[in-house]
Amino acid sequence: MPLTPEELHAHALAAADDEQRLPLSRMTGWDISPFEQEGLRTARLLPPVLPEPPRHGEDPADCSSCARRDEGLWLDDRWRLTRVEGVGVPLVLMLHPRDHHDLADLPDDLAAEARGAAGAPHPARAGAPPRRPLPRLPDR
Ligand SMILES: [Zn+2]
Repeated sequence: MPLTPEELHAHALAAADDEQRLPLSRMTGWDISPFEQEGLRTARLLPPVLPEPPRHGEDPADCSSCARRDEGLWLDDRWRLTRVEGVGVPLVLMLHPRDHHDLADLPDDLAAEARGAAGAPHPARAGAPPRRPLPRLPDR
């Protein structure tokens, strides 16, 4: 049986410190973590707000994705592909349905197409030329 929002909040508080903060993820301690644990902290746990306020874009009239339904690197009548900027890696692409859908109400045929797109072969396995090696930096 699922927890009520109040039960989930109480459960999380039981694991929190005196300031109602959950511990940092173990990943923040990994050698490859982009974060230094010193000074890093989680946000305080806030009690649930009920009823929950509407999420941005829940109404198609103010949905920013629907406002850009004709923009993208690639479009067809059902999908658009966009580039996510400012993420720190060379390329992140996002596939959006052109009509307004939440994940929970995505029609089965669109969900099947999205699964197919996610399973598309990696360019390295699809006949793309191999990447050139990075240039060698001069020795100091
Ligand atoms: Zn929308």
